[in-house]
Amino acid sequence: MSFISKLCMIFYFIMGCTTGDYHINTDKVVLVSIDGLRPEFYLSGKYPTPTLQQLAREGRAYKALIPVFPTLTYPNHTSIITGERPSTHGIISNTIFDVKKGPTSEWYWDHKYIQVKTISDILEEKGYKTASIHWPVTLNANITYLMPEIFPVKGYYTDSPWELVRKFDTSDIVDEINEKMNLKEFHNQEESDFWATQAAIYLLKEKKPKLTLLHLTNLDKIQHQYGRESDRLNDGLKVMDQKIFELKKSMPKGTCLIIVGDHGFKNYNKIININKLFYNKGWIELDENNELKSWKVIAHKGGAQAAIYLNDKNIKNDVVNLLIESQDIGYNYISRNKLNTLGSYPGALAAISSRDGFSIGDKIKDEILINLSEIKGQHGHFISEDIKSGLIFSNCTNKYLPSTPEVENTEVFKVLKNILLP
Ligand SMILES: [Zn+2]
Repeated sequence: MSFISKLCMIFYFIMGCTTGDYHINTDKVVLVSIDGLRPEFYLSGKYPTPTLQQLAREGRAYKALIPVFPTLTYPNHTSIITGERPSTHGIISNTIFDVKKGPTSEWYWDHKYIQVKTISDILEEKGYKTASIHWPVTLNANITYLMPEIFPVKGYYTDSPWELVRKFDTSDIVDEINEKMNLKEFHNQEESDFWATQAAIYLLKEKKPKLTLLHLTNLDKIQHQYGRESDRLNDGLKVMDQKIFELKKSMPKGTCLIIVGDHGFKNYNKIININKLFYNKGWIELDENNELKSWKVIAHKGGAQAAIYLNDKNIKNDVVNLLIESQDIGYNYISRNKLNTLGSYPGALAAISSRDGFSIGDKIKDEILINLSEIKGQHGHFISEDIKSGLIFSNCTNKYLPSTPEVENTEVFKVLKNILLP
C-alpha cells in the first residue's frame, strides 16, 4: 500500500479521498445500488467485504450518503437518478396512496409515475444505449436493455418475479442473457442478485451501454429479517462483495463504477398500529369483512413511518393534537411545514416516524402496540445516523466528485450527468 493510500485510510472517512490517477476520464458508468448498504460495511474493517474496502481505499468513499424522507427504497432510488426530492419526482413512497380508495398495495413499479427526467431518459433521448437490471420504478421506461423490478402482489400481478421480468423486458434481453450466460430462472432474492450481476457482466461485454443500472436486494431482505447485525448478514455481505469483485473485473476500460445504497437500517421489536388510534375515535369505519369502508383520516404506512391523510377538514386540529399527544407510544410527529422543507408527501397532513425499537403496522382493529419475540430490522424513518447509506466512486472522473464527507443522494445525479454528458 502506498503512503498516500495509508494516509487516505486515515482520512477518507472524514473527508473522502482519492489515491488513484488524478486524470481519470470516464465516459461510461455502472451504477450499482446495494439495497440497505450501510457505510460501516466498507469503513469499519470488521465486515467480510475486501472488495468494497479496497474500492473505498483506492477510489473515493464517503462517510454517508444521506437519503430522502421517507427512507424507503423507491423514493430514494428515484432521487439518485433524477436529482430531485420526492415531492418533485413524484415517487413519494413505495406504494401508492389513492385519494378515493386510501392505502393500496400497488407499488410505484411504472416509470410513468416519475414526473421529471431520469438520467437514462436523458441519455436515451440523445441516442445512447442504457441498461437497467431490477432498478425500481423502471417498468415501461425507455431503456434499451430493460429488466425492470417487478414482483407479484395480490390484486396486481400473479406471475413469479422471473416470469414478470421476462414479460416486461425489452429487446428480449432476458432470454438472450440466459442462453449466452447459461443461466437459469431465479426463485429468491439471493438467486435474483446472482442472475442480475451475471446479466450486467454480459451487457457490459456484449452491448457496451453508456449507463448500466443494477439493483441488488438480498442484503435488504436479510437486515429486515434479522436486524442490523447477524451471521446471516456477514454471509450475505461475503456473497455480495464477491459479486462486486466479478463485476469490477468485467468492466471495460474507461468505465466508472459507482456504488450507492438507498437507506440504512434500525432494529425494532414493537409495532405501532397507528390507524387503531383513528378507529377508536370513530374516524375510520370498517365493513362486515373488516375491509375499509370510510375514513376521515388515515395513515398510509411504509416501513417504519407513515403519511397521514385527511378526508375531513373539520377534524384537522383534533387529529394533529391526538398525534402530538400520543407520541410517547413510540413515534415522532413530523409537521406539514417540516415535510415541505424535506420535499416529502405533498398532499399529506403530516407524517410520523418510529422511535428506536419501534416500527409501524397497518392493522386497524388489532392492539395499538404489538410486542414481537425477536429483533427485526426496518427503515423508512426520519434521517438519523443509522438510517444513512453509503457511497463509493471507483475509477470516476475526479473533478466531478463531491468534496464533502457526507453527500445528499440527489447529488449523485449531478455526478452522473457530468461524467456521462460533460
Ligand atoms: Zn431499500
